[in-house]
Amino acid sequence: MIKVTGLSKRYGNYLAVEDVNFEIKKGEIIGFLGPNGAGKSTIMNILTGYLSLTQGKVEIDGFDIAEYPEDAKKRIGYLPEIPPLYIDMKVREYLDFIYDLKKVKFPKKAHIDEILRLVKIDNVQNRLIKNLSKGYRQRVGFAQALIGNPDILILDEPTVGLDPKQIIEIRNLIARLGKNHTIILSSHILSEIQAICKRIIIINRGQLIADDSAENLSKKLSSDRTLVARIECNEKDMLEALSSVKGVAKVTSLGKKEEGTCDFLIEPERDTDIRSAVFDRVVSRGKKLLSLSSNMASLEQVFLRLTEADNDEVRRILGQNEAPTDHKADAETQEV
Ligand code: ADP
Ligand code: MG
Repeated sequence: MIKVTGLSKRYGNYLAVEDVNFEIKKGEIIGFLGPNGAGKSTIMNILTGYLSLTQGKVEIDGFDIAEYPEDAKKRIGYLPEIPPLYIDMKVREYLDFIYDLKKVKFPKKAHIDEILRLVKIDNVQNRLIKNLSKGYRQRVGFAQALIGNPDILILDEPTVGLDPKQIIEIRNLIARLGKNHTIILSSHILSEIQAICKRIIIINRGQLIADDSAENLSKKLSSDRTLVARIECNEKDMLEALSSVKGVAKVTSLGKKEEGTCDFLIEPERDTDIRSAVFDRVVSRGKKLLSLSSNMASLEQVFLRLTEADNDEVRRILGQNEAPTDHKADAETQEV
């Protein structure tokens, strides 16, 4: 449905997006996750044809956006970060206007009635947009994106600035729309993406650094083999004993969770399985190992760690070894 190949974007000398590749199938709901300034809006603006690309190719349902912008754009409904609302218009009047602008073919009244019902704004259709709450305005933004019934919806930070109740309503709306649309939404907030999307694309400093399910991202990172151990022991002695185990990089005491015991966070050197060595050391000191578990990273930890590390380090963590050397060199020498 959407295919992006070697996409780069320069603003003057600044390379805002670098060699991004991904493919999205019909019916998927994808989350673009990344800190502010990562390049999410830039990519979305390119996908929707609002911004030209510097290098690469974007295909929407087989149509190259540079060659067939009309055919490509017809298939996309776009809710930009700041929705293009005319606040002195009434809701219905505005949607009629967008309908004309998009040159939609469906019967006008029935089509707009249906959208008003779908996003639940039929009760405010005769109100001025400027008198609506932020939550309602956002739904009017959704309504304009839905006019013409595009297969694909691109939603840039759709819940930003909303209160918790409005956020839940917009989430539910996205879930409803997800039944009949392919959706890409962006956010810099992990929990937002996690609540709605199965697949997550993490963008950091203009590069795509991860493209996976939330579950897999978590798993891949926790394969760094960090352990949590509960040991019947004296804290200080055991800290010392564990720190000198071969393959152990760092031991942190997590304190006393149970009488006469102590919990430890044990981090191995790169990719080392230290379970047996830790077990042996505890036994050789005559102590009891009560439990030993791997410290599954939460997705929040994954995200923080990924966006803090440099992008090459991230690829190593995620086991994606193809550094984009050739493309990168091309992009950097490319004239604007
Ligand atoms: P995000 O949506 O992830 O917050 P953006 O795509 O808006 O990120 O921005 C990516 C980078 O490109 C930022 O460093 C931003 O300052 C820069 N940028 C965005 N738009 C422009 C522009 N029109 N001219 C110059 N730089 C821009
Ligand atoms: Mg943005």
